[in-house]
Amino acid sequence: MKFDTAYCISLDEKLSIYDVRDLNFDETLVFDSAKESFQCPNDDCRAAFDTANQLGTFNAKNVNYIRTPHFKNLPSTLHIEGCPYGISKSPGSIEGAAVEDDREEHFPSELLLTRREYLRRPANPTAAPQTPGNNPPVTPASLQTPHAGRDTTPDKTSVFAHPVECFVSNIDDKELLKRMPLKIGEHTASYASFFKKIEYLLDNKGLIYWGKIKEIKDYTQSFRIDFEHKVWFKEEGEAKKKPYSVNVYLSKKLVDNYRKRKAFLEEIKGAIDSQRELYCFFYGVTPTLKQVPSKKNPEATFGVFSANIENLDHFVIREAPGLEAK
Ligand SMILES: [Zn+2]
Repeated sequence: MKFDTAYCISLDEKLSIYDVRDLNFDETLVFDSAKESFQCPNDDCRAAFDTANQLGTFNAKNVNYIRTPHFKNLPSTLHIEGCPYGISKSPGSIEGAAVEDDREEHFPSELLLTRREYLRRPANPTAAPQTPGNNPPVTPASLQTPHAGRDTTPDKTSVFAHPVECFVSNIDDKELLKRMPLKIGEHTASYASFFKKIEYLLDNKGLIYWGKIKEIKDYTQSFRIDFEHKVWFKEEGEAKKKPYSVNVYLSKKLVDNYRKRKAFLEEIKGAIDSQRELYCFFYGVTPTLKQVPSKKNPEATFGVFSANIENLDHFVIREAPGLEAK
């Protein structure tokens, strides 16, 4: 059984596994999922057992993952009768065995552009597990707490990797991606149309663009990511369309000030050295045509579609098996 959310005792919040990953890598916070305790997100079920009745995590701390992260039952985990998380989806399957579909089934309906914030519950080791319903709110209402007080699928997320995993792991189910809605800011579209191949970026602004990485350059001031596919574009005065390269720049200053700097550097340095096929996903900027000086002939310039990434929270480099053929 895969869990989309779990209750985290120390934060007194229900978290998605993507929230947990974000917390693990955040250097401004003290959080290590290996030392945290997670329990069933169903309030009634959780209240029936003590805090020793816990869930495990899968791919919570792995910077580069291929298989979909999730919470899972441990061999010792108990659920009350009727708890939706206690029922194995495929009867006869052995818990813990790799029998489940390796895909993200919980599609957030919205990517929140404001990061979720957490307040840690004051340490009180003698306190018994609180009865749900009596909990005073621990988080000011002004903060984004989309999952608080719910035991169902979270329908909003502030972690970009979550909708990206939905898209990547379900790429073979085009109909599903066309059906599922995604809202970012004021714009709502299906997953299928919100995720735009980089070569078609002229179709629409403000989408999630993605493409296969051709090369990553490590410069003094920045990283440059070159995409394999080109944009076909007809410039004014030209008779027909010509192919233009596409790239994005990440300034080193942006990386150095990033709260997940270490994990990000591991991700991008691993990608530079990698022989694997990697893909880049980003949201928030749309590459536009720029004239840059030619290296071979400094007098001349050439056109390239380029953008500067402004927020690393909305940027992912990853392996994405199955994407190439689509
Ligand atoms: Zn349960």
